[in-house]
Amino acid sequence: MAIATINPATGETVKEFTPHDAAETDRRIGEAQAAFEALHHTTFAERAAWMRAAADLVEADADELARILTLEMGKPLAQAKAEALKCAKNMRFYAEHAEGFLADEPLADPSSVGASRAYARYQPLGVVLAVMPWNYPLWQVIRFAAPALMAGNTGVLKHASNVPQAALYLDTVFERGGFPVGSFRALLIGSREVEAVIRDPRVKAVTLTGSEPAGRSVASIAGAEIKKSVMELGGSDPFIVMPSADLEAAAAKAVTARVQNNGQSCIAAKRFLVHSEVYDAFAALFAEKMRALVVGDPTDAATDVGPVATASGRDDLAELVDDAIAKGATVLAGGKAVEGPGWFYEPTLLTDLSDDMRIVLEETFGPVASLYRFESREEALRIANQTTFGLSSAVWTTDAADEEYFVRELEAGAVFINGMTISYPELPFGGIKASGFGRELAAEGIREFCNVKTVWKG
Ligand code: NAP
Repeated sequence: MAIATINPATGETVKEFTPHDAAETDRRIGEAQAAFEALHHTTFAERAAWMRAAADLVEADADELARILTLEMGKPLAQAKAEALKCAKNMRFYAEHAEGFLADEPLADPSSVGASRAYARYQPLGVVLAVMPWNYPLWQVIRFAAPALMAGNTGVLKHASNVPQAALYLDTVFERGGFPVGSFRALLIGSREVEAVIRDPRVKAVTLTGSEPAGRSVASIAGAEIKKSVMELGGSDPFIVMPSADLEAAAAKAVTARVQNNGQSCIAAKRFLVHSEVYDAFAALFAEKMRALVVGDPTDAATDVGPVATASGRDDLAELVDDAIAKGATVLAGGKAVEGPGWFYEPTLLTDLSDDMRIVLEETFGPVASLYRFESREEALRIANQTTFGLSSAVWTTDAADEEYFVRELEAGAVFINGMTISYPELPFGGIKASGFGRELAAEGIREFCNVKTVWKG
């Protein structure tokens, strides 16, 4: 896959980039290693000052960053700007909290282990490789990089091949803020070159956000090297609507949850499970709102849904929908690609789904929602958990017993009650099952790439 900016709204190749060869990749890993040797002797206060300065830069550059994101992957401009601002917020969050999250943890009663003092200390590991996707080209990276650098690690980034301009911005922003040169280095390499980087002895760990196949490959290589890894993979999140729900609010959030970022979010609600008592009313509201969405030029402020980011992504989406329709699914909204240049797809709502359809088990990465009817919460749970993924979930109910049932039983890394899944710096984020392992954000995220050193003193 060429490393290039290709505008998904037009299909036009805007700019191609020369990939880094083995020597340049080696040089860049060396810079990150040298930066680690400097960085891990710095204080939290120094790193926090640099992180805040970098956050100021991201904020000041937000309009330009938004333009790059929209050009490279097609999300509506306002959403692109919001992404940049959320990154700045996350950088400030870790500037403020890293020291507390990584403070020594003393054992309250050291005599229980025969010590006068015992504690755990969190220390950085070294250079961490980040393999990142194009869907939130800044946020996915900053979500890893802000805590990693605050912990004293350094990073090398293999970004998705279709977002090189975003990658090159991230290559410099931390050192512009004051971090040692090389603290965060972009590698313009293809996915085939990733294995050699993971196996490089200077690289101590790897984090990947992306698809399940990429996760399987990277986690296997990291496992063979006995290197720590964090995997943030795909999802097919359920959105469950119980009879007690506020249907209007649920339908409005259902649409946002499904189509934000042009439907290409790992934590998008993808399967909508509705109790038969409220099914018809909810389906009508949901279909009406999906049909009302404005699809088009992502730089136009009136646009709700821009293009799918790649031609192959749109083809994959169309295949899943066509397969469902051929096997008897009913189309309540949309159902096909938009004619003309660019990789647009109509906001789509399908119902009457059966287990032989691929869409029931596979991830739909675009503005396509599947609607299911259930009679009992046990049946809702069966449908919700039948996917191999386990990223997040949402439940709409005002019944305390239903709420507790789903919080306990859903196989997912998160449950949002009467809301849609959003990642917050303050809350741990990650999945189970084929959605991966490990956590990002909050205290859990910064501790993933630390050596938890036990200290015992007699
Ligand atoms: P992808 O094809 O897996 O690509 C992600 C990154 O991995 C890219 O940098 C890609 O490089 C690289 N890559 C692909 N195959 C690889 C391999 N075999 N070995 C090493 N690196 C490899 O995923 P995507 O299409 O960009 O993103 C969509 C997927 O990401 C969806 O499944 C979505 O749910 C998931 N996602 C998960 C989260 C989460 O937090 N759980 C967040 C966002 C997205 P190239 O671009 O060069 O191929």
